[in-house]
Amino acid sequence: MNNLIITLLIILIVLLMVLIAIAIYLVYKFMLKNQQQPKTSVSSKASNPSPENMSDNVPARSEKPKFHISEKSHCPNHKENTPVGTCLICEEAFCEECLIEHESLYFCKEHFRTYADNKWEKITDILTTAETPEASMHVYDFKRDLWQFEKVPTFVLTHYKINVAEDIIESYVQLHVRENEVLELTNRLKTFQKK
Ligand SMILES: [Zn+2]
Ligand SMILES: [Zn+2]
Repeated sequence: MNNLIITLLIILIVLLMVLIAIAIYLVYKFMLKNQQQPKTSVSSKASNPSPENMSDNVPARSEKPKFHISEKSHCPNHKENTPVGTCLICEEAFCEECLIEHESLYFCKEHFRTYADNKWEKITDILTTAETPEASMHVYDFKRDLWQFEKVPTFVLTHYKINVAEDIIESYVQLHVRENEVLELTNRLKTFQKK
């Protein structure tokens, strides 16, 4: 009799342990499910136009684009079009309709005419590497000042070369100016650089 009770007890204990194991497994599974649920519920909530979620998600997401939008959201000539590139001369962003590509250079319509109507010469050829990124900064500043304050059209081209010996990419910053302004602007750039 005693033996029977002991074996029954053992069986009961084993059964209990199996039950506990199943319970732990179920709880574990349930917790896993709960962890995943927030992700899916957020995305489904986001599509619901409930005001709570609007304040939670939408501004955060649209804030960045909005910031860009306030700066350059649409082409100056076409309010409905998003800009695809900038003009080399005025550096404004224009849409596909307004940009003219010529030998991989992009201009707005007005400045393509400026480009086509003039002869251009490069007055700089400044080597810039990853270690010396500031070497040509003054050229860009000079170009922008010229355009902003005097509406003198110039453009900067960057010519890339791979230096195989040293395994670096070199870029040559070339400022192009109208032929008749070469001397004047070369001198002015020199004094500009000294500042
Ligand atoms: Zn332009
Ligand atoms: Zn446009």
